[in-house]
Amino acid sequence: MNERVQVVVIGAGLAGSAAALALARGGAKVVVLERRSEGELGHLPGGWISGAVVSKLFSNWRQEIPLERRVVEQRLSLLTQDGAVWIDHSDRSEGEKPASVFTMRRDRFDPWMLQKVREAGAELRLGVDVSGVSYNAVVGRTQVVHSTGRIDCTVAVIATGIDALLRPNSRGRPQPHLTGLHETLEGEAGLIDRRFGAKGDRGVVMRFVLGFLGAEERGLGYLATYRNGIGSGVVLQTPPTVDRESRVREVLEQFKGHWVVAPFLRNLEKVGESVQRIPTHFSAGRLYAPGQLFAGDGGGLHGWSGAWTSGWSTALRSGRAAGAAALEAVRTNDGSEARLEAYVTHLREDGVIRDTRRGLRAMNGLWFDHRLHRTYPRAFSDLLHRMMTETGAPKEPIAKAARSVFRAQGVRAIGLLRDANRLGKGA
Ligand SMILES: Cc1cc2nc3c(=O)[nH]c(=O)nc-3n(C[C@H](O)[C@H](O)[C@H](O)COP(=O)(O)OP(=O)(O)OC[C@H]3O[C@@H](n4cnc5c(N)ncnc54)[C@H](O)[C@@H]3O)c2cc1C
Repeated sequence: MNERVQVVVIGAGLAGSAAALALARGGAKVVVLERRSEGELGHLPGGWISGAVVSKLFSNWRQEIPLERRVVEQRLSLLTQDGAVWIDHSDRSEGEKPASVFTMRRDRFDPWMLQKVREAGAELRLGVDVSGVSYNAVVGRTQVVHSTGRIDCTVAVIATGIDALLRPNSRGRPQPHLTGLHETLEGEAGLIDRRFGAKGDRGVVMRFVLGFLGAEERGLGYLATYRNGIGSGVVLQTPPTVDRESRVREVLEQFKGHWVVAPFLRNLEKVGESVQRIPTHFSAGRLYAPGQLFAGDGGGLHGWSGAWTSGWSTALRSGRAAGAAALEAVRTNDGSEARLEAYVTHLREDGVIRDTRRGLRAMNGLWFDHRLHRTYPRAFSDLLHRMMTETGAPKEPIAKAARSVFRAQGVRAIGLLRDANRLGKGA
């Protein structure tokens, strides 16, 4: 079957859904092709998302969107096997700020968002795998080849997530990525409020630097409070020779069993899990080609807010920008490269390119550096241990203790200041 529509969106993740929504609201005839089935949509991680971003998609967003809790406390812990150093920021002031962060479950958000996409008038086809996209310069049309046929369109928005990035690079090597394993845990109503001291729709996000891993590994863990449960997960970088999926499972068990983390998880039951890869080479590289726009992780776009990943927000923002650019192409019946360049302008105006560049620097810089993952957790844990332990002997001055601990761990003051500065800049 060879059909004809104005736009085909490939991938119904966050970037694809946001693009389809913008297009359908603008009156374009759009078909969304998604390889996952309805049942598979439920196997998605949860985490946190910026309220400022979702508010641009839905005017009545606080009432409509199935968000979990407004994050009023964020904690960072540097974990070692026997120690933990916490940095805690709480904002319990009444009233929401535009920049509030919310926890979100994608097994709830994605189906809801897709329903909105359908209601706006887009046609959604699940269980359809796209195998190729090509542009015919003579007729100025794009052809999308999928598992049951072909569709001819003015523009294809390619929002296929990490898979698009993981094709081997020009030297035939797989692209670098991290492996993430996320679990959703649920429990009796009220348990999360009591355990995390977070009432009503207020919530807590905790991130952990896993300073107890092997020398070649880097890992982060997190806990995010939902209404009646939590999201718990780890993101791991391993040497290429290691079986990543089994190793990430081992590390998640280690993380959940750590004496600092385990009490938060007691009496909660696992109701879902998902393994996912996270790209590490955000490039904002190939964003458009004749008849094609690349959005979200599939376009190498992945944001960074402060020191934290914000892939969801960036996927929604870039999807919205791709939708706007595709709509302009449809209205002028022109899918040429010159017309689609407007996509980059939309991305720049929304700060997506800037945030992606920052993400690239952060990922390649301090964030997966051995100092953050091994040296600092140990150094700060040792220092605090020394300062807080009573031996009966007179206390040594803090500066002297710090000098001695840092020297033993190979930390130099100038390096520490430089890293603090880089972390503060999100790089
Ligand atoms: C464990 C984990 C936790 C995370 N937590 C957070 C968090 O808390 N906050 C945050 O901001 N980011 C988080 N991220 C990152 C975030 O998930 C991604 O950046 C985001 O999902 C990218 O959205 P996307 O729309 O580009 O791709 P996706 O959401 O991956 O969607 C791509 C879609 O395309 C479909 N597809 C792929 N190929 C084809 C094809 N050939 N044909 C048809 N369909 C296809 C896929 O099935 C998928 O549905 C996390 C990632 C992981 C792994």
